[in-house]
Amino acid sequence: MADIIQLLPDNIANQIAAGEVIQRPGSAVKELLENAVDAGATRIQLVVVDAGKSLIQVIDNGKGMSETDARMSFERHATSKIKQIDDLYSIKTMGFRGEALASIAAVAQVELKTKRAEDELGTHLIIENSAVVSQQPCACNVGTIISMKNLFFNVPARRNFLKSNPVETRHIIDEFIRVAMAFPNLFFSLSINGAEQFHLDAGNAKQRIIQILGNSYNAKLVSVKEEMDYMNVHGFVGKPETARKTRGDQYFFVNNRFIKSAYLNHAINSAFSEMIAKDSFPSYVLFIDLDPAQVDVNVHPTKQEIKFEDEKIVYAFVQSAVKHALAQFSIAPSLDFTLNADIQQLDAISKPFTHEQKEAVASSSLFNTFSKKNQAHLIEPTNQSELKHWKSFYEPSALNQASQEKTLTQQFAAKPLPMGNDQLSLDDDSPFVSTNSPLSVHTTTQYMQLHYTYVVATAQSGFVVIHQQLAHERILYERFSAASHGAQILSQQLLFPETLSLPPADAALLQGLLPSLHAIGYTIEASEVEQHCFQIKGVPADTLQGNEKHAIELLLEQFKHFSSEVKFSNREKLVRCMARQQAIKTGQALSTQEMASLAQDLFACKVPNVTPTGSPTYVSFSEGQLDGMFQRLM
Ligand code: ADP
Ligand code: MG
Repeated sequence: MADIIQLLPDNIANQIAAGEVIQRPGSAVKELLENAVDAGATRIQLVVVDAGKSLIQVIDNGKGMSETDARMSFERHATSKIKQIDDLYSIKTMGFRGEALASIAAVAQVELKTKRAEDELGTHLIIENSAVVSQQPCACNVGTIISMKNLFFNVPARRNFLKSNPVETRHIIDEFIRVAMAFPNLFFSLSINGAEQFHLDAGNAKQRIIQILGNSYNAKLVSVKEEMDYMNVHGFVGKPETARKTRGDQYFFVNNRFIKSAYLNHAINSAFSEMIAKDSFPSYVLFIDLDPAQVDVNVHPTKQEIKFEDEKIVYAFVQSAVKHALAQFSIAPSLDFTLNADIQQLDAISKPFTHEQKEAVASSSLFNTFSKKNQAHLIEPTNQSELKHWKSFYEPSALNQASQEKTLTQQFAAKPLPMGNDQLSLDDDSPFVSTNSPLSVHTTTQYMQLHYTYVVATAQSGFVVIHQQLAHERILYERFSAASHGAQILSQQLLFPETLSLPPADAALLQGLLPSLHAIGYTIEASEVEQHCFQIKGVPADTLQGNEKHAIELLLEQFKHFSSEVKFSNREKLVRCMARQQAIKTGQALSTQEMASLAQDLFACKVPNVTPTGSPTYVSFSEGQLDGMFQRLM
């Protein structure tokens, strides 16, 4: 009897191997993008047609390949990344198994154009069924363009196993995102059926996360950073409110490789315990960097699972890093009660009250709520004798007191007449409708910023505490609102127009908003050459400058959230969104000049007291109120 064992022909061996590495279009996307990263590219473009079933193309500006290497790269076990087995333990590249291109060439029609910087001409290679159909010199840019056509054209059984286009597209996008998230310093784009869906400019990790997960994450990321001798973890976790009911935005990278690890996921979940509902999942993007010798990445054909040398340490480290970050975020900054020199000089603090002021306070309802029985805030008057004791302790002797009172009265006579207290009191029936500015008219108003959030401004008899962001929102709202009804608004032309390219749905939305945006001072034009692309050429004067593109994207995001509220016209929605978005934020330091114009602009508003959505923009305190609180009435 004849022997029956024979070696499989290359193309069949490769097809079998391909079963592990290339399961669907998404897996090819992952391999090709990783090859571009490994080749040192800084710009990587992915083009997909028909969910990758007809075409997957990756264009990179990496180092390219020589004529021979181009051919070699499609051989099984052909790699430039390792030479011996020990290299596996110092691996810094994404690939190393030398299987991807061989597998792809076994199950699709492949076209490659590649050129190195040192070569005059590049190589153009066509491969089908693992066999070279043609190889020719060609003129092309430095880098590589690899096109994979008709995946599984020669393995119909596997082609039939592919899912619907939306499902396969989703897989492609997932793989694209995982690579793009891991390398924020590189430019990535993804175009699907001719429409650019992602355009990710190089930036830092946070910018990349926001580019990908959306602007709604902007203020909701808590930074994680912990370093240890042989390992460090960095990245972001979403604040508890970003937790989802479905396992959504969870990304774990070890040495920039996206991995799935139920074990480490558990470490993060447990760090979040008590902070989010039991059935929801925290969002996170975390990068662990450690010595490659401490991980085995060769335990899974697509390398999505890895083995740590000491898993328990990694678990504990990740968990404590996340806990630490969350603790820093949730503990409110401790309030600083020491008054600085500026505030000590405020009239309200340094000067005593007049008799009229005391009376005004005593009759105010705020004071009454503090002083009437059965009221929630009643402060029981302390035992008089005890109080006296303390008074005498703190107050100057009777003699001194008399002389002091005199000098103070003299001082006070020089002071402008206090405005009616009703305009400043907290408890007035309509406390904020005053169109008069409570700010001092005759004396110079003093300004001070507290916690980078509040502007304290001296008023004629007392002081107002303005919330900088809410106040500015009101100011901008009135300004934009007037502009949208025909008032002149100053527009400022940008020196460098910004280009904005949007997903199709957003582009349609923005197109519809252009006339209204124009009315409030924006100059935005749809690009004539590129679809879904806009140029921002001018912005309203006096708004935050710098990231106009981001501002418009944020606007679209907010606008979408508004869409359920039918009661507003589009224009009103737009004005509200713009005002909210362009308002100076808390956390921003303001100069005295800026504080002064904020206060003046606020009190020049028609309705200075509340934001368009009804939050108070400022509260005012009269000297009398303070006096009342300290029981200095009698
Ligand atoms: P691996 O990435 O595991 O080495 P691949 O089959 O993915 O194996 O690629 C084989 C080889 O082809 C790589 O080691 C690399 O030298 C070369 N190569 C693949 N893609 C590119 C590219 N885009 N630019 C330059 N060289 C590439
Ligand atoms: Mg590879």
